[in-house]
Amino acid sequence: MTTLVGLDLAGRRVVVVGAGAVGVRRTRRLLEDAARVVLVDPEPSADARRMASHGDVALVERAVRAADLDGAWLVVAATSDPATNAQVAAWSEGAGTWCVNASDGASGSARMAAAGRHGDLAIGVVSTEEPDPRRAAAVRDALVRHVSAGEVDLRRRRPGQGRVVLVGSGPGDPDLLTTGGREALRTADVVVTDRLGATGILDQLPDDVEVVDVGKSPTNHPVPQAEINRILVEHALAGRTVVRYKGGDPYVFGRGGEEVHACRAAGVMVEIVPGITSAFAVPALAGIPVTQRGVATSVLVTSGHAGADPATVEALAAGATVVLLMAVSSLPDICAAALAAGVDADLPVAAIERGSTAHERVTRARLDTAADVMADAGVRPPAIVVMGRVAAEGFLDDEVCATLARPVSPDAADTDD
Ligand code: SAH
Repeated sequence: MTTLVGLDLAGRRVVVVGAGAVGVRRTRRLLEDAARVVLVDPEPSADARRMASHGDVALVERAVRAADLDGAWLVVAATSDPATNAQVAAWSEGAGTWCVNASDGASGSARMAAAGRHGDLAIGVVSTEEPDPRRAAAVRDALVRHVSAGEVDLRRRRPGQGRVVLVGSGPGDPDLLTTGGREALRTADVVVTDRLGATGILDQLPDDVEVVDVGKSPTNHPVPQAEINRILVEHALAGRTVVRYKGGDPYVFGRGGEEVHACRAAGVMVEIVPGITSAFAVPALAGIPVTQRGVATSVLVTSGHAGADPATVEALAAGATVVLLMAVSSLPDICAAALAAGVDADLPVAAIERGSTAHERVTRARLDTAADVMADAGVRPPAIVVMGRVAAEGFLDDEVCATLARPVSPDAADTDD
């Protein structure tokens, strides 16, 4: 018989014997669950060595001994030798420690579930008889798909503490709302939404989810921030899960920080699900990489509300890309200040309205013509304005890019290490 339990392995010692492909795969999963993994193998694989050199695991490079299992909460026997795995399973049995035997699932005392996750739910499948991992994985996939498809109502049933989840919905295209954001929406009793972002998707929520629109636009009267804070806190204190649904990313000119303060001050639990900010996604969709080796190595994201801010002019003069939000009305001032400071008159400027939506429009100009060109075209908010050489028409065409780029050493590779 098999009893399914959820183990909390965070910070707990797990010994994985065998650092080949199977052991490494299991280790990755255990690390995702924040276990403290010790890998034992006389000849570890290159992957295992890399993990050890990054400090992700402790590596013991010799044949396993019974004493290696001391203090382990869980043991995974994952060598390619069934006899060694059986030995490790027997030692674990003697020590009263759960053991997963990778070469013979039926002989260990525990089985790893084919596991999936949806928000705060772990979804696991194990077979109680002959192990058949692919079959278990297929069932797991079906279950996760079903839950993720939004067919299961994930709102809390048990009355509990209310909370606020700040969710960034991306620039507008529902494909750019993260899976985390979607999951958070499925848990909402109340959604407090902005006008910008992927708001169409809110129609799919169950009828009894309350949707409060506090959307702001330059022409209508916005709900004051203090009132929004009050709405969030009031619902959460009444025990509801409140999703504060915001365009782009909540912390990029989204006043998310102020909402967090208001919640904390009222003793309300608050979480964040970051979103894809329009500052980077909207240029990307218009063929503008905000950085490019040899062309622009830094980027300033700023708000047009600051007007002709000296930092903006300095960044332009230094060759950085400048991404301006909320800058349609202040664009003439910003261009004039940059020109006065000696920034090249032919510096490319692009304005992208309603990026990622069916109404997206890109208008291009130069620094010295941008104010007139944008006004003539009738550019209106919401729009992202990009200034910099990366905003040149056809920048991603090889020839255009080559004429703009300074030579860079191929050895100066970007690395994520
Ligand atoms: N938190 C948001 C920004 C909110 S400020 C984010 O991270 O994207 C509002 C400004 O964002 C708008 O005035 C506009 O400059 C920009 N913006 C948001 N969505 C946009 C879109 N789809 N297309 C163009 N600009 C957008």
